[in-house]
Amino acid sequence: MRTGRWEGELLHTTIDGTQVVVSSRWSLQRDELAQPAAILETNTDISAAKRAEAALQQMQAELAHVSRITMLGELSASIAHEVNQPLAAIVLNAEGALRYLEHKPAKIDEARQATSRIVQSAERASSVIRRIRGLSKKATSETTRLDVNDVIEETIPLVRSQAISNRVTLRLHLSSGLPAVLADRIQLQQVIINLVINAIDAMKPAVDRLRELTIQSKLGEDGQLLVAAQDTGVGIESDKIDRLFDAFFTSKPDGMGMGLSICRSIIEAHGGRIWASANVGPGATVQFTLPPAGAPSTERVLADAAGSAKSVG
Ligand code: ADP
Repeated sequence: MRTGRWEGELLHTTIDGTQVVVSSRWSLQRDELAQPAAILETNTDISAAKRAEAALQQMQAELAHVSRITMLGELSASIAHEVNQPLAAIVLNAEGALRYLEHKPAKIDEARQATSRIVQSAERASSVIRRIRGLSKKATSETTRLDVNDVIEETIPLVRSQAISNRVTLRLHLSSGLPAVLADRIQLQQVIINLVINAIDAMKPAVDRLRELTIQSKLGEDGQLLVAAQDTGVGIESDKIDRLFDAFFTSKPDGMGMGLSICRSIIEAHGGRIWASANVGPGATVQFTLPPAGAPSTERVLADAAGSAKSVG
C-alpha cells in the first residue's frame, strides 16, 4: 500500500501438490479514484536454482567438515611414504652390519660402512619429519584479531541448508561488546561447523520435540570468551562425556570420530578449553572458551619492539 509494489520469494504449492519456490513481483493496480483495485502478480519458478544453491551450501559444509580430516590423512600418507624408505634402508644396513660382525674374523670396515649408512638414513628420516612439522606449523598459524560473533555469523550460511533440511531452528544469542580474540579464522569456523553438524546429527532421531540449536557467545566470569552450542538432541550419556573428544570415538555408523578431537586440538592450540555436558532438559551442550586478546595498544608496543629488535639485529 505504501509503495505500490512488493518483491520477494514465496513457497507455492502446485495443483499436483509439489512445492516450488517462486520469485514473486506484485504491483498494485489502482482505480480512477486511486483506490487499490487489484494486484498484478508475476511469479517465476526458481526451484531448480534454489535446490542447486542448497546443494552447494551443503557441499561446502561437508567439505569444511572433512577437509581437516583429509589433510591429516594426506599428511600421514606422505609421512609414511617418505619415512618408510630410510627406515627400510636402516633395517637392511643393520642386518648387514650384524652379519659382518658375526663373520669370523669380523669384517670391521664393512660393518663400519653399513653403520654410517644407518646414520645417514636416520638423518634423512628425521629431516623429512622436521620438514613436515614445519609445513603443518605454517599451515596452522594464520592468527589475526577476530570478533567471535563475526566468525559465528560467517559460519551460519555454510550450515543453514543442512539445518533447514533437517527442520532444525538455529538461534543466535550473541553478546555485544565482547573483547577480540587472537585466532585463526578458518580453524574457528571449522570448530563451529563441527559443533553445528554434530548437533544436527544428534537431533535427527528427535521426533517428539522441537529441534533447536542455540549458539551463544558471552564473556565468562573468569574473563574468558565462551561459545556454546546447545541442542535438543539425543544427549550424551555421562559415561561417554569424557570420551567424545578422543580420536576415533564415534556413535555414528558412518562417523570418523575425528571432528571433536580436531576441535579440541584447535581450541587448546588457541589457549582455550572445550567440553560437553548434558542439558537439564533434553539434549547436550558443547562449549569452548578462548582467552581475550590483549589491548591493541599493548600489542602494537610489542610488535614495535620486535620490529626494532629485528632491525638492530
Ligand atoms: P563423528 O561426528 O564423526 O562421530 P565427532 O568427534 O565429531 O565424530 O563426534 C564424536 C561423537 O560424539 C559422536 O559420534 C556422537 O556420539 C558424540 N556427540 C558429538 N556431539 C554431540 C551432541 N551435540 N549430542 C550428542 N552426542 C554428540
